[in-house]
Amino acid sequence: QWDRVLGRLRAEVGEAAYRSWLKPLTLLSSDDSCIRMAVPTRFMRDWVAGNYQDRIQALWQDEAGVSSAVEIVVLPLARPVPKPALVEVGAEAEVRLSEKPESPREESELPALVESPRVAEFQSLSGSLDPRFTFDNFVVGKPNELAYAAARRVAEAENVPFNPLFLYGGVGLGKTHLMHAIAHQIRNVYPQKKVIYLSAEKFMYQFVRALRTKDTMSFKEQFRSVDVLMIDDVQFIGGREATQEEFFHTFNALVDQNRQVVISADKSPSDLAGVEDRMKSRLGWGLVADIHPTTYELRLGILESKAEQLDVVIPQKVIEFLAHKITSNIRELEGALNRIVAHATLVGRAVSLETTQEVLHDLLRANDRRVTIEEIQKKVAEHFNVRISDMHSSRRARAVARPRQIAMYLSKHLTSRSLPEIGRKFGGRDHTTVMHAVKKVEELKSGDVEFSEDIELLRRMLEN
Ligand code: ADP
Ligand code: MG
Repeated sequence: QWDRVLGRLRAEVGEAAYRSWLKPLTLLSSDDSCIRMAVPTRFMRDWVAGNYQDRIQALWQDEAGVSSAVEIVVLPLARPVPKPALVEVGAEAEVRLSEKPESPREESELPALVESPRVAEFQSLSGSLDPRFTFDNFVVGKPNELAYAAARRVAEAENVPFNPLFLYGGVGLGKTHLMHAIAHQIRNVYPQKKVIYLSAEKFMYQFVRALRTKDTMSFKEQFRSVDVLMIDDVQFIGGREATQEEFFHTFNALVDQNRQVVISADKSPSDLAGVEDRMKSRLGWGLVADIHPTTYELRLGILESKAEQLDVVIPQKVIEFLAHKITSNIRELEGALNRIVAHATLVGRAVSLETTQEVLHDLLRANDRRVTIEEIQKKVAEHFNVRISDMHSSRRARAVARPRQIAMYLSKHLTSRSLPEIGRKFGGRDHTTVMHAVKKVEELKSGDVEFSEDIELLRRMLEN
């Protein structure tokens, strides 16, 4: 009977809405008085109850011949509970002979070691920390505020506040900058602390070299005697068993001794490919802070702060133009600014909107190949089972107004359109309406984890 009810609902609401809202329903029990079903999130329960409950009840009555009440409960999907891994510290890592460094690199590839009187082998290598990557030069906004606060905490706290700190986010969003900033700041505040910063690739290279010179003991010693170990871009360690093993042992030894570990990656711990489950789980034990894609405000802030440090005058119009157009990441944003400046200096002409468009036409085109407002409206309408025309209509019922607000919010974050432009695409609404929608959705997101997850899901679907 339940299957038949579902089948009929599916025909009524269409495939997209069925998959989003009805397929996840689990029938728990049914008798003459009540049918009980479970959904994984509170947000889904509210939505299903608000939009489909009556219809479910009617269809059930039709199929089963009894009029039962419908009860929907929230049963979160089981998440694996991390268990402490038992690891023998100091056990020899299994060595696979096929594992060789891709290209032998020499001294310039050694890790940056800040203040290390005890480890002679690494000599003075703090040169590979970028002096510009400090907390002072880091512009903080909504997308990176958690990561920034966590990094500062790690740098300034006397005792380990959380372990590990796991920073993740897409390329060019500031992970390496924050890690270098931690190292600089520790050097200022706790000059006696020993800090090692290196990329996962260099860690692998070091390890393989130690194997070659049969000197794994001192390798272990070096990494296990630090106060703070930072490993950047740890996604590169995936799939290399021996190094992964060694990294895991080092990691465990440090965490067990209450030494700070900071890791960065382009994905969350659980999404790291080719990394063992026990490792994924352990990486997520401390604080996991993600850096979100940039917002217009953050891009504006970064451009203004960088422009201030230049000798060339960048008109405000150009800054706003760039903040609108270069939405991919901060590295590209900086690159765009540098190109404009280089061009202006070379040809001896002042920077203007015109020269900017000319110099950056390739970059601007690449950044335009992104999701459109129309695509967002279509996807959101499908997801919430409302009509696309409701995105433009003046209907104010919650069932259409909320999806519309969500679509405006996503348009703001995923396209480079301005608020008035977005308003126009939503039935000629005013920019204050769009602003209100964006605020409203942010408010709901911060108060409701499930709602927030649902929005993130939509965002990810649209970005692909
Ligand atoms: P990732 O390691 O995440 O790929 P990076 O840390 O290398 O990114 O950042 C790329 C560039 O953008 C760097 O030059 C960095 O200084 C700059 N950058 C990133 N985030 C910020 C920020 N919030 N404020 C100022 N500059 C930033
Ligand atoms: Mg990086």
